[in-house]
Amino acid sequence: MRVLITGGAGFIGSHLAEAHLENGDEVYIIDDLSTGSLKNITSFQKDERYKSRLFVFTDTIFNNDVMLELTGTCEVVYHLAAAVGVRYILENPLESIRINIQGTEKVLELCSKFKKKVLIASSSEVYGKHLHAPLVESDNIIYGPSSKFRWSYAASKLMDEFSALAYYRTSGLWVAITRLFNTVGPRQTGAYGMVLPRFVDQALHNQPLTVYGEGKQTRTFTYVKDVVQALMGLMQADAAGGEVFNIGGIEEISILDLAQRVVQATGSSSTIRLIPYEEAFEKDFEDMQRRVPSIEKIKSLIGFEPKTDLDAIIENVIEYAKET
Ligand code: UDP
Repeated sequence: MRVLITGGAGFIGSHLAEAHLENGDEVYIIDDLSTGSLKNITSFQKDERYKSRLFVFTDTIFNNDVMLELTGTCEVVYHLAAAVGVRYILENPLESIRINIQGTEKVLELCSKFKKKVLIASSSEVYGKHLHAPLVESDNIIYGPSSKFRWSYAASKLMDEFSALAYYRTSGLWVAITRLFNTVGPRQTGAYGMVLPRFVDQALHNQPLTVYGEGKQTRTFTYVKDVVQALMGLMQADAAGGEVFNIGGIEEISILDLAQRVVQATGSSSTIRLIPYEEAFEKDFEDMQRRVPSIEKIKSLIGFEPKTDLDAIIENVIEYAKET
């Protein structure tokens, strides 16, 4: 099978590319390297088994000629190219909206034209500021005001979901939508604010771990290789077309507890420093206090269950950070 991955040099995209190569597929990556990095693919790019089946295009998905060619060539498309990370979005507000909304529209248009199956990466951000758990795909969504720019990411991803569902309804495009919950693992960078690589890096350097707010906010972390299995499983499941799926882990943990777990696992002498949100972000920042997925829907369709628990995830991230 020929597989196109937009954002394939990114953290999740690179693991997905590797898994498809392992399966014997031909993989086409397009990535503008805005947040992705060629370093993410070097480890498997030179592998003799994969060399002749991996094609990398350092380009933007707004390059119409390249995207026409790639979408025409491939049988399935994973659209992962997007602005990622709360810090990146706050620092690049306009570009983030543009890539998320216009970029996704472009991909959907081409997939519809060539009648190619497409999977869209959305985000648990779409739920907004709920306090209940678990979050179910059919839940209402609650956002803050537009002066708090964090919500632009949620709103843009929600618009992607509407566009995808509109294509499904009006042109019969097979499109599956996935809401990813705090995916973590090797190759994720802390540069755009992501908490686990930042904590691990701080702990390995015996620097204070920077917990924002009081650290009572919770998340449910999912290992990247589990996410990849879920994405590939959905792509193969016909009934996933026109549907939205949570992809997430099981263990809810507060950020303060996560910091303690990382300090323990690294054997670091780091302390934990509580940093007020106003200091960490701009004045109007608003965090999500709780984020736990229901994974019943994806479980009942493809039998997905995350295999990697949080301790194993932390160990793997520490190992990767030590190697690089
Ligand atoms: N966070 C933190 N310290 C950091 C980076 C992040 O306390 O150095 C917090 C952040 O405020 C959020 C949680 O960790 O509550 C997860 O942040 P991340 O950016 O990884 O993902 P989010 O869930 O916000 O998309």
